[in-house]
Amino acid sequence: MDILTETKHLQNRLDDLRNSQMSIGLVPTMGYLHDGHLSLIRKARSENDAVVTTIFVNPLQFAETEDLDTYPTDIERDTFLASEAGTDLLFTPTNEEMFCDDVLTTVSVQEISTVLEGASRPTHFSGVATIVAKLFNIVGVCSAYFGEKDWQQIQVIKRMAQDLSYRVEIKGCPIIREKDGLAMSSRNVYLTKEQRKQASHIPESLLKAHEKIKDGERQSSVIKGIISERLDSSSAIDIDYVELVNGENLSITDQIDEETRVLVAVRIGAARLIDNMNALEGLNL
Ligand code: AMP
Repeated sequence: MDILTETKHLQNRLDDLRNSQMSIGLVPTMGYLHDGHLSLIRKARSENDAVVTTIFVNPLQFAETEDLDTYPTDIERDTFLASEAGTDLLFTPTNEEMFCDDVLTTVSVQEISTVLEGASRPTHFSGVATIVAKLFNIVGVCSAYFGEKDWQQIQVIKRMAQDLSYRVEIKGCPIIREKDGLAMSSRNVYLTKEQRKQASHIPESLLKAHEKIKDGERQSSVIKGIISERLDSSSAIDIDYVELVNGENLSITDQIDEETRVLVAVRIGAARLIDNMNALEGLNL
């Protein structure tokens, strides 16, 4: 695996690969890699001739009050893990490399960026869309791998790629979970031991909801009630939202069907955690 920090160097390497007719898989991350990230790299490895993994803690997607300054990093460990999982080129640009000056040009995807995560984090998705657009422009024709843990993010990126005619195929990959069902996240390290225990209420609430759906319940309000009740039973958990929406356009759903996605966001101590599932399929444990 080669580590590259300059855009030009990465582009030269990618041009060479493409001239040899090699397909490219792109895995954008903010580092502090865990098995969720590695599952994307492995999937990209299995479907492409060459894999580019990027590590960049993108300041644009953090609001001023958020955790940019404390976001965990461990580049040595990440380098080892990214290589083990099958990365060929690891791109780790500095802030200066990515943004030569103030950022005057941004990308925003209307409507689907303003609900759910976007309601709590109004500048978040334009930060994500801008950096992902930049990576797509740098890398060029490729397949790009994203985790379903950030369900709304995938919908925003898919829409951006379609609207702006990127020659990038967006691939969604399943959520990888800890043994107790908690979705893996770099932010789980913010949790104290006790908070980590309480965090298992999140997957438990989704499992309980899915049981009810399996029994035939189709009213979103009933399912929301079950999830909220389970989450509220932990005093450590503050609910940000529990919502049932159409998985693609993210409009609120009253009656559950095969396209319904159940999304949850909570705060536990210093961590803001999200999770989701297809209403009919449930969690992949
Ligand atoms: P991040 O480093 O948090 O920006 O995540 C980089 C990519 O990894 C995104 O596409 C995430 O959706 C994905 N990802 C993060 N956690 C998981 C997980 N538990 N399972 C699958 N993909 C994940």
